[in-house]
Amino acid sequence: MEQEQVAKTSFRFFGLGGSNEVGRSCHILQYKGKTVMLDAGVHPAHQGLASLPFYDEFDLSTVDILLISHFHLDHAASLPYVMQRTNFHGRVFMTHPTKAIYRWLLSDFVKVTNIGSTSPLDKDENLYSDEDLAESFDRIETIDYHSTMDVNGIKFTAFHAGHVLGAAMFQIEIAGLRVLFTGDYSREVDRHLNSAEVPPLPSDVLIVESTFGTATHEPRVNRERKLTQLIHSTVMRGGRVLLPVFALGRAQEIMLILDEYWSQHANELANGQVPIFYASNLARKCMSVFQTYVNMMNDDIRKKFRDSQSNPFIFKNISYLKNLDEFQDFGPSVMLASPGMLQNGLSRDLLEKWCPDDKNLVLITGYSVEGTMAKFIMLEPDTIPSINNPDMTIPRRCQVEEISFAAHVDFRENLEFIEKIGATNIILVHGESNPMGRLKSALLSNFASLKGTETEVHVFNPRNCVAVDLEFKGIKIAKAVGNIVDEVTNVLTSKINVFSGEKSEEKDVIQLEDGGKKADEEETIVSGILVSDEKNFDLNLVSLSDLRDHHMDLSTTVLKERQTIRVDCKNELIYWHLCQMFGDIEVLIDDEGITHSKDINPQENSEDNKKSSQELELRIMGDVKLNIIDNVATLEWSQSIMSDSVADSVMAILLSVDSSPASIKRSSHKCEHGHDEEHNELWKIKQVARLFKEQFGDCFTLLLNKDSVNEDVQGVITIGKNSAHVNMTKMTVDECNSNPLKGRIESILNIGTDLVAPLC
Ligand SMILES: [Zn+2]
Ligand SMILES: [Zn+2]
Repeated sequence: MEQEQVAKTSFRFFGLGGSNEVGRSCHILQYKGKTVMLDAGVHPAHQGLASLPFYDEFDLSTVDILLISHFHLDHAASLPYVMQRTNFHGRVFMTHPTKAIYRWLLSDFVKVTNIGSTSPLDKDENLYSDEDLAESFDRIETIDYHSTMDVNGIKFTAFHAGHVLGAAMFQIEIAGLRVLFTGDYSREVDRHLNSAEVPPLPSDVLIVESTFGTATHEPRVNRERKLTQLIHSTVMRGGRVLLPVFALGRAQEIMLILDEYWSQHANELANGQVPIFYASNLARKCMSVFQTYVNMMNDDIRKKFRDSQSNPFIFKNISYLKNLDEFQDFGPSVMLASPGMLQNGLSRDLLEKWCPDDKNLVLITGYSVEGTMAKFIMLEPDTIPSINNPDMTIPRRCQVEEISFAAHVDFRENLEFIEKIGATNIILVHGESNPMGRLKSALLSNFASLKGTETEVHVFNPRNCVAVDLEFKGIKIAKAVGNIVDEVTNVLTSKINVFSGEKSEEKDVIQLEDGGKKADEEETIVSGILVSDEKNFDLNLVSLSDLRDHHMDLSTTVLKERQTIRVDCKNELIYWHLCQMFGDIEVLIDDEGITHSKDINPQENSEDNKKSSQELELRIMGDVKLNIIDNVATLEWSQSIMSDSVADSVMAILLSVDSSPASIKRSSHKCEHGHDEEHNELWKIKQVARLFKEQFGDCFTLLLNKDSVNEDVQGVITIGKNSAHVNMTKMTVDECNSNPLKGRIESILNIGTDLVAPLC
């Protein structure tokens, strides 16, 4: 309950994994009742359920969308678990290449993690099966770079992150608040990828990786030279080089470097007799994916692809090994082998085989997660545990070096990017505690001059399952739509199309701010209706006359109106009047067939004839429905400016149709053909009597004495203590104890005389 309240009033960040650690990345964002989940990884140093983010600490059924930044296992490998084995039912998005590679990587991950599980107990530790992977795969949706999607008011855009093929940063916008999540990112243009982009729109909150903390990378050329020289010298002394790599991503980058070097130095390298191998279950499958997505890589690699008409990822000097059975280990060689953390599999087997020999080299090029063998071996231990013979230890005499080609920003690159984004709230993720803490201090001292100002920068390095709550002032940005724009541009000479301001409590008035800065001297006040779409957080300012045009959808959310009145005239007559007034009348029910006859030919308007159980139903101007049956007229319409006024007009016609001159004229055709005076006289009295009925209702009584034909017809009006006697034949007021009442009666009589007299 409390969580819900907080979510509605403030922004909340809640890390389920990857906070003060590298591995099992998973972050929750909550704002205005919307929940976004970022990444669903596993921790490479743990196995089974222990490798998962803390999913039990959050109700995953509340998540609207889950965005996966890239295919690395620490960001994506628990996705099938989330989709198949929890109550999560949100939508999942990733880029096309991420989805393509994810498929192969995870099927391999299932295989590898299920290998050591021989006992039934271990089986339970399996996070998911191949079936889970297949079933969830089809439900993953893709997003293109630079395209923005909108899911229930959560807008998000993918940008290049540079880290690996398909890696994306996401800028998420909820109700005007923008959050940028970098995922793992690189600002270096390498041999195949572009560097991370700076999104064009600013962000309020930045969730940024802090892998390298305050460390600085050596220049790229230096690292490449070191790498090739170290490998060169190792193979020249007859040693073997093991490069543990993650199957995809940086492995391809290292291969691009080595393949070029081998081509250029073939003679020196024992006349090309030193082989390079790439040992991975996925090598071939993934090559085709890399080929497919060459267009998403940098200009350099695209040019190579275009010019040579061949796939730059088909290397001249590198052979693929699916497993070590085919590998004949006779002499010096260079082996890229997965997995990158040396936890198990091909790279681990080779490590155990080669590490006792001091001629050999283990060269770590990726980021090594705390608690893994890759991290441990860098401490240059005397022995390492054997994975195949747990009781055994293996002596380590080989050389161990680290040259990082991990595509993560260093401090300088990170700071430069953070400054460009300009967010005042920075949340650090994806970093071990120490480098993350150092980065926080460095950032705070960098932005120290802003302290106490409006743009003070806050930096957070929360632990897993510790929430960060940020309050944001609810500045409403309303978009002016339609005529109101002209109204405003007439006042303000500058071109404005977006205004921000606060809605005042009493009136629908927006105080405009020009381009975000208050126009102090000339404040312009524009009146309109503020239309708020709570679901999508759209706020539009529309002038009253435009409302229907710009918000057609509004009628679906408003009430139906209904009014019923009694009508004492023929349906035919009502229809005739409506036709004079409205062009668009659709006939729904017409029992009498009155709407078909071209010439309306009303019969005598006698009392008997007026009672009709024949039904007439019309739809007027599209939305207003009129039903008349048994002299009861029912009007129904959806509330809107347009329909309200149509309904008003119809109602006015219904109320006046009996008494309008045209009605009387149409109802008195017969008079023109000459009829006896007596009948005509009676008819006139009845018409006037109806005017009185309309005005006074049941307070008016017509005294018709059929026995005394020659006597004048009397009408009596009684309203409370006031009463009046009217001579209906002479059209005079005989008695009345109230002057105001007498005045009213006389004016009705005048109207009545005018109406009736000229016609006959
Ligand atoms: Zn990564
Ligand atoms: Zn990562």
